[in-house]
Amino acid sequence: MSARGVCIVTGGSRGIGAAAARRIAADGWAVVINYNSSADAADSVLKSVEAAGGTGTTVQADVSTEAGIDAVFAAAEKLGPVTALVNNAGVGDQVGTIETFTFERVERLMRLNVTSVIIASREAIKRMARKNGGKGGVIINISSAAAKLGAANQFVDYAATKGAIDTFTVGLALEWAGEGIRVNAVRPGVIATDFHANVGVPNRPAEVGPGLPLGRAGTPEEVAEAIAWLMSDAASYSTGAIVDVSGGRSIVP
Ligand code: NAP
Repeated sequence: MSARGVCIVTGGSRGIGAAAARRIAADGWAVVINYNSSADAADSVLKSVEAAGGTGTTVQADVSTEAGIDAVFAAAEKLGPVTALVNNAGVGDQVGTIETFTFERVERLMRLNVTSVIIASREAIKRMARKNGGKGGVIINISSAAAKLGAANQFVDYAATKGAIDTFTVGLALEWAGEGIRVNAVRPGVIATDFHANVGVPNRPAEVGPGLPLGRAGTPEEVAEAIAWLMSDAASYSTGAIVDVSGGRSIVP
């Protein structure tokens, strides 16, 4: 059992989740690095955590299924009681207008980006709530600047899933503040990860970056810093907060 407790990072094998797992481990949390298909990448995150003196484990599970979420919590509990959850796993789909969206596409995005976050949070809350004998805890949801901007002509369905996450963050924070559980979100802008290649625009960070207020795309490590702060005792009075890490993208009128 680590000094800070056990933190689950869904989708911790690559991108923002991988950077968050490394950063959180450096703060003393035992990290549960969940992945769906990238076993080697998850192993490499765990190796770097351990090389830096941290502890953790990896767990393969598709968190868009309830069985997958259960498997992640079962793996976490082998390390100790879960006191933190980073709901990071999320996907987009090919950019385009709504005319091109299939029912299956929208359902898949909703399932991973929204349903999975709500059900994983339910499992975390059950364990963290003081009334159940828990010690309280913290949940961080990874939203997107798209929640504010709407992502017209890119993926309005993806943006809508992240809008749901913002609303969920505020509601859950109010519902569980009295039980010692803080719930916050981070809203990244354009961050250099595989996300963009997976939605058909691999050069997006390089193309969009120079036009942003801070003149470049962000890095996963910059998002991880905000996650780590919201999880830390330094943020003990912050709940229901949604922190933009977008290089100013979210505030362009
Ligand atoms: P990424 O580099 O594509 O990484 C996605 C991660 O999610 C991978 O570790 C992947 O694991 C995991 N994952 C995908 N489906 C999963 C499933 N069904 N079950 C478990 N894990 C799953 O993406 P990213 O950019 O880091 O995105 C992370 C989060 O940030 C997402 O919620 C995304 O919406 C959000 N975000 C990203 C940006 C950006 O510009 N990059 C901006 C705003 C918000 P496997 O490889 O093992 O499948």
